[in-house]
Amino acid sequence: MPKQTNLHCSFCGRGRDEVKILIAGQEGHICENCVEHAQDIITQELGLKQESNSASSASNALSSSATSNFKLNIRKPFEIKKFLDEYIIGQDDAKKVITVAVYNHFKRINQKQSQDDVEIEKSNVVMVGETGTGKTLLAKTIARLLNVPFAIVDATVFTEAGYVGEDVESMLTRLLQNCNYDVAAAERGIVYVDEIDKIARKGDNPSITRDVSGEGVQQGLLKMLEGTEVLVPPQGGRKHPDQKMIKVDTKNILFICGGAFDGIDKVIARRINTNAIGFNVNKESQDYQRKNLLQFINAQDLKSFGLIPELLGRLPIVTYLNPLDAETLRSILTTPKNSLIKQYTRLFEFEGIDLTFDEAVLNFMVEKAMEYKLGARGLRSICEGILTDAMFELPGTNENKLHITLDYAEGMFNKSKMSLLKVA
Ligand code: ADP
Repeated sequence: MPKQTNLHCSFCGRGRDEVKILIAGQEGHICENCVEHAQDIITQELGLKQESNSASSASNALSSSATSNFKLNIRKPFEIKKFLDEYIIGQDDAKKVITVAVYNHFKRINQKQSQDDVEIEKSNVVMVGETGTGKTLLAKTIARLLNVPFAIVDATVFTEAGYVGEDVESMLTRLLQNCNYDVAAAERGIVYVDEIDKIARKGDNPSITRDVSGEGVQQGLLKMLEGTEVLVPPQGGRKHPDQKMIKVDTKNILFICGGAFDGIDKVIARRINTNAIGFNVNKESQDYQRKNLLQFINAQDLKSFGLIPELLGRLPIVTYLNPLDAETLRSILTTPKNSLIKQYTRLFEFEGIDLTFDEAVLNFMVEKAMEYKLGARGLRSICEGILTDAMFELPGTNENKLHITLDYAEGMFNKSKMSLLKVA
């Protein structure tokens, strides 16, 4: 053991007076700088190991995130995608784009620490897709895998400062609340801004009336999306002078925006038709392309829809989600890890009841969801409509089996309020 008077770090050799902390071991000491350095080596080494070990680690991610208090779980893109596949059916293009964006985002955060002079810009994302196609689910699932604070906010509640509504800064309140006001964690979080299409500019001429909930909000979002220090009201709502504010730096917060952008297919079609003059495209591929126009979406279309170019500049990644067809809805019912059918089976299991369905019942549910244009969200209401009576009557009885036949399902569905919801 070195003498007390001559204490030094056994790794870098710095003396006691050159460092802040010296931690004593059996044979020597280590200073805070070397601890940090060692931590970097460990992170790097484990990262490399994970790469070769990745197949199993993606599914373990959730359990590790549960114990580590917002300790970032960085995953390789294919691991993230694999994890998303367990919860979200289809939407491969969106999954891939988001996965890469998120991965690059966290690489960017790490790079900051290594003080490299090449600065990677933020990769905020816009997702375009009909309501109920999995936009929120995608953002939520990613946040869960990476173990970062996550908030869903609705763009429609915001208005320009000074008008009735909420300040855009209050979206960070939600993020702070979701991580118990742990500012450092919130500063690496993900905010999902839903209904971004609803703050599109109302018309081409903004000077007639002030567009306080449209363009005004887009202007308010600019700085925040790019990265700035924002004073956040801890309880949300409007800022007022006597309130104590929390300072949050948004430069490492990833913003994912989503919206249905109703009617944008026409904008895309117009653009593509003008661009396609002179090209010889056969009828079949024309039909296919017409049905799947969203895949061609780009920033120019969003601009035509009413998002201002400055905002689009801060949302450099644009992706789309496909409408859900019958086949996808059918998989959504049973395939994801926490699919609806698995959830209801579990609910009945708690009562000691073994719940099973005829195959035809599942097809019936999908049929109704399509017929009523209710999408994946509707599947839950349909299940609920079919199973409510059983969930009310069976607990406390001696039943240990419930098999749902098509007759039973149809009867229950017709009896439920669901059948009133039909869209003309
Ligand atoms: P959006 O944000 O696009 O309006 P959500 O992500 O909120 O839609 O989807 C609503 C619900 O529908 C989800 O909670 C999920 O249960 C189901 N869902 C939608 N799309 C999918 C999908 N592709 N895979 C699995 N479930 C889905």
